[in-house]
Amino acid sequence: MSDRSSILSHVDTVVVKVGTSSITGGGNSVSEIFMDSVAKQVKELRDMGKKVLIVSSGAIGVGLAAMNAKPKPKEIPIRQAAASVGQGILMQKWNESFEKQGLLVSQILLTYDFYSDREKYLNLRNAIQTLLAYGVVPIINENDVICVKEIDAMFGDNDTLSAYVCSKMDADLLIILSDVEGLFNKNPKIHADAEIVPVVDDVSSVMAMAGDPTSRVGTGGMKTKLRAAEICHEAGCYMIIAGCDIPDVIVRAVRGEGIGTIFLPGEKERKKSRWIKAAYAKGSIIVDAGAADKLRQGDVSLLAVGIRDVIGRFERGDVVNVECSGKVIAKGIPDYDSEDIFKIRGIRSDRIEAVLGHKSYDDVIRSENLVLM
Ligand code: GLU
Repeated sequence: MSDRSSILSHVDTVVVKVGTSSITGGGNSVSEIFMDSVAKQVKELRDMGKKVLIVSSGAIGVGLAAMNAKPKPKEIPIRQAAASVGQGILMQKWNESFEKQGLLVSQILLTYDFYSDREKYLNLRNAIQTLLAYGVVPIINENDVICVKEIDAMFGDNDTLSAYVCSKMDADLLIILSDVEGLFNKNPKIHADAEIVPVVDDVSSVMAMAGDPTSRVGTGGMKTKLRAAEICHEAGCYMIIAGCDIPDVIVRAVRGEGIGTIFLPGEKERKKSRWIKAAYAKGSIIVDAGAADKLRQGDVSLLAVGIRDVIGRFERGDVVNVECSGKVIAKGIPDYDSEDIFKIRGIRSDRIEAVLGHKSYDDVIRSENLVLM
């Protein structure tokens, strides 16, 4: 393995994700000791010249405990209500812990559509960059009050959310603190000789090790952590999964000590491609097998001739899925709206003007606006 401290020496911006079970210490209320320790370590990183963002879970868990509510697994509104109670308590506690270090915190609640609308995404970036420039520590969570499990436009778990934050904000390293100490080569709850995998080069090679979610309190198990690792890999960020109980875990992980599992980044994708991949699709363009093959072979622009159908209503400039046989093969930003695409489906590009009375481009989705999934 290459020396962790040298590969992490360039790290400038760090996202630290803390899970519900870390924040509550497995109990019902927040663990001040843990939060104080996170704040102290963030201060240390700041003194080392690093920028730090926190993704904090715990709103629902803390809110449920405060309301003395014990919902059934599928009861959603009580979780929304609990998030609204718990988020306030959570921020109050974070504020107290960071105040002891002389640091100001800010609250950012995200929903998936922050990433589906490029303007909102850029606004978010500007806000976060300004907060960091002023030395504020942004504390991010999903807006669980309005994001419910039935709606697919949500992250649903903060592992994925933190990976998107890391990728979008051009951070270099995501540290996921968890009651799980890293990725094990077999289930540690069953096999006493299970060992932590120290380095993962290519996350796709270890997806099978995910098993089932192990923690009852948060929503993130190893599956969501490996999904987060995939997002980081694609975005060119490092990711470390480490046990929240390890003393000074954040600082030691950043310094490159061999803690937990480190996932190495792949080649960095273009920012626009990453944004398109993460964006919420407003509709779908259904293509035939021939067009799908061409796209897969690297002919990365979509022509009207291969389009069979259009699902949903969308404007030009919205992000849409490109589907074939029920599978999303690409995502992109079309230069025509859904109505026009429906009218020109299956025809050659030189007939677009005759059918529509106008023409933007030969391609329905130009190559620079299309990414394969
Ligand atoms: N956003 C949820 C909360 O704050 C936690 C989601 C998760 O456990 O990943 O309670």
